[in-house]
Amino acid sequence: MSSINLVDSHCHIVFRNFDEDLDEVASRWRQAGVTSLLHACVEPAEIPAIRSLADRFSELRYSVGVHPLDTKHWQEDTADVLREAALDDSRVVAIGEMGLDLFRDSNLEEQLDVLRPQLDLASELNLPVIIHCRDAAEPMLKELQDRQRNGNPPTGVMHCWGGTPDEMTKFLSFGFYISFSGTVTFPKALDTHLCAKEVPEDRFLIETDCPFLAPVPKRGKRNEPAYVKAVAERIAELRGVSFERVASMSTANAKRLFALP
Ligand SMILES: [Zn+2]
Repeated sequence: MSSINLVDSHCHIVFRNFDEDLDEVASRWRQAGVTSLLHACVEPAEIPAIRSLADRFSELRYSVGVHPLDTKHWQEDTADVLREAALDDSRVVAIGEMGLDLFRDSNLEEQLDVLRPQLDLASELNLPVIIHCRDAAEPMLKELQDRQRNGNPPTGVMHCWGGTPDEMTKFLSFGFYISFSGTVTFPKALDTHLCAKEVPEDRFLIETDCPFLAPVPKRGKRNEPAYVKAVAERIAELRGVSFERVASMSTANAKRLFALP
């Protein structure tokens, strides 16, 4: 048994492109030292299938939520559906992924209408949030500021981080963790490299966001949880520390934030 323990803190193996070979995918993540996975949810219809995956793979925990590019799936009763799913299964460790995406869409008001009740639900259930934020740091920070002023600031993670060091500092100041994906291995992602160098050691996570964003040298292929190792290796290189150090810190951070076993 290797002594390396990695957490893939954000994956989507429920997607159809894992139907054929999921057992092999799982044996590869186990071989790579991935001992814990957090499965993100983009809309409520996914929940039964994600739950079945948690039955099948004991190292898997999951979140429930609605992605900002899936606002059409937000119905009158969605907050209740998410609440019930979270209360019904102790393997639900977060609410999300939720957030704002002004890179691929421009319906900010509609996205806020779906984000806010999920932030409320996370506060109510005392669960961390998984935030997807693309080209929307300003409105997201404003939302957090408003909640801090009202005495109910959420905690959680900025997933698949792609912002500037300055934006990162602001999210850190709200108590958020910063999660790095395969994009940190991309040669041109200079801001992400800087962030990976500067993030405090006790405040970063690693993830694949698979099947998307496979790290170099698998870039362009289907991503899978085993490749989170490449994310950790690149961060170690950027920070000038050992891979073992990045693995142990990111794992401890993920376990603390999501109360993982
Ligand atoms: Zn995701």
